[in-house]
Amino acid sequence: MRYSFTSGDSPGSFDLPTEQREFNRKLRLLESVQRNARLTNQLRDAARNRVVGGNAFSQHILGLAGDYVLPRGEVQAFMQSARDLGLSPVDETVKTKGTGPHVHVQAYPAGVIPRQVYQQIGVQIREEP
Ligand SMILES: [Zn+2]
Repeated sequence: MRYSFTSGDSPGSFDLPTEQREFNRKLRLLESVQRNARLTNQLRDAARNRVVGGNAFSQHILGLAGDYVLPRGEVQAFMQSARDLGLSPVDETVKTKGTGPHVHVQAYPAGVIPRQVYQQIGVQIREEP
């Protein structure tokens, strides 16, 4: 599904299947370098995302984020490998609640994917007070 949005006055589009294929290709490359990393979570629908306390604009909703568990001593090397592939890793190994300790890897830095894409997917946009 291709999603359209406007950025400023400019129209744009976001082709989700293409984005997902490219993201999955990068995850397989990451896993081939970081052999002890295990993917535990990737695609979540918006309802499931709320249950686990995910950000309303989580890239998990798009299938463009993956959570990995791996030995603690390999976290920094894993994050560097992810960055080398153009991915955006977030160290959540200090988390003790919700989804538990893991490294979150997403396709884009936070805020890059237009909110209109999420709206079209059916994410309810609630502005924080
Ligand atoms: Zn995650």
